[in-house]
Amino acid sequence: MEIGVSIERALEISSSFPLNYEIETISIIDAHNRILSTPLTSNVDDPLFDNSAMDGWAVIESDCLSLPIKLSIIGTSQAGETPDFIVTKGTASRIMTGAPIPSGADSIVLIEDSEIIDNKVLINGPARPNYIRKRGENLTKNEICLNSGVLLKPSQLAIASMMGYSQISVISPPKIAIIGTGDELVEPGENLKPGQIYESNTKALFGLIKEMGCTPVTYPFVSDDLNKLREILNIASEECDAIITSGGVSMGERDIVRKLMENEGEIKYWKIKIKPGGPPIFGLWNNTPFFGLPGNPVSSQIVFMTIVVPWISNSCGYDNFDGPKLFEKVRVKLLSNAKGTNNKVTYRRINIFFDDDILVASVPNNQGSGNLRGMVDCNGLTILPIGVDGKKDDFIDAIWIR
Ligand code: AMP
Ligand code: MG
Repeated sequence: MEIGVSIERALEISSSFPLNYEIETISIIDAHNRILSTPLTSNVDDPLFDNSAMDGWAVIESDCLSLPIKLSIIGTSQAGETPDFIVTKGTASRIMTGAPIPSGADSIVLIEDSEIIDNKVLINGPARPNYIRKRGENLTKNEICLNSGVLLKPSQLAIASMMGYSQISVISPPKIAIIGTGDELVEPGENLKPGQIYESNTKALFGLIKEMGCTPVTYPFVSDDLNKLREILNIASEECDAIITSGGVSMGERDIVRKLMENEGEIKYWKIKIKPGGPPIFGLWNNTPFFGLPGNPVSSQIVFMTIVVPWISNSCGYDNFDGPKLFEKVRVKLLSNAKGTNNKVTYRRINIFFDDDILVASVPNNQGSGNLRGMVDCNGLTILPIGVDGKKDDFIDAIWIR
């Protein structure tokens, strides 16, 4: 077991025990917000044939250099049909948006720039070659258009369909167990006795896990009792691909997660050099990857973002730009000082917004690791390196939470 590791080392250690996942093939109709597991190459050129971007006339550009000009009407090209005539010098074909360009024509005149007179068309506006959508200008056959690890949003679904896919392979969301621990915890809705609090961490973890493309499985939270925790960890390791607990990882008598993992599990690392963050644990329980997050509500979310998010993304091969993610890493200009910590990377709650063209960040006062208001009222976190204070007007790295 390593104790007090850097974030980089923490990620390195956990990457040796990746989250397992399976792949399934589903209908494109059901694929919204799923994650593509194999790159998709186009089955077609798109457009499949040169076609008109406008309603108007398919003409020969050189016929229309001095306007107005009268052309004979040779036919009509409709979407879904193939024209069986040729546009020759002095002629034009009616054409609808999306209809194939008849051979001979090389440009389009807008319908608004024409008039019909005596069965001929009087062209009084320019002929434009760029109103022709060229074969393959959007997609070319066999080109990879969607990478694996991409989150399938509406436009990705549309392009997959345009490429000819009715079924696609996606990641089956890995199941991640969530187990809250603590004698003081009570489900919201029940009555609080003195000393008790409403449980909140598992609700945040549920959302965070879902947003990372996994399936959260919440177990009843356990009191600080080794036997009960062992029992539920055994069930969770049978039923899920990974386990996340909250609370009980410090040095206290009641910190049963750490005790049980120390005595009966396999701890790979304990404590990370981050603030807030407390002493998270990563290890294995019955060979199932296990994260023991700290109980403080702010810490549990921040530790999830710093060590669990990259672990899931790397394990499942998420695309850096288009995969599921909870935040963007950005540079911000500090509007006031933000104190760092001697031996830890410091994540202070900040508010990030645009001031003209640059991202700036205000630093509110409510920075306690138990103060959930700070997570709700803010939309970002500083990433102050070890031993570095952020000064007003400094540009620093930050996490912009979406
Ligand atoms: P622990 O890490 O168990 O020592 O808990 C640290 C602090 O977080 C204590 O104030 C706990 O009451 C609180 N806490 C622990 N677990 C939860 C939870 N699931 N929901 C809300 N607060 C919690
Ligand atoms: Mg506790």
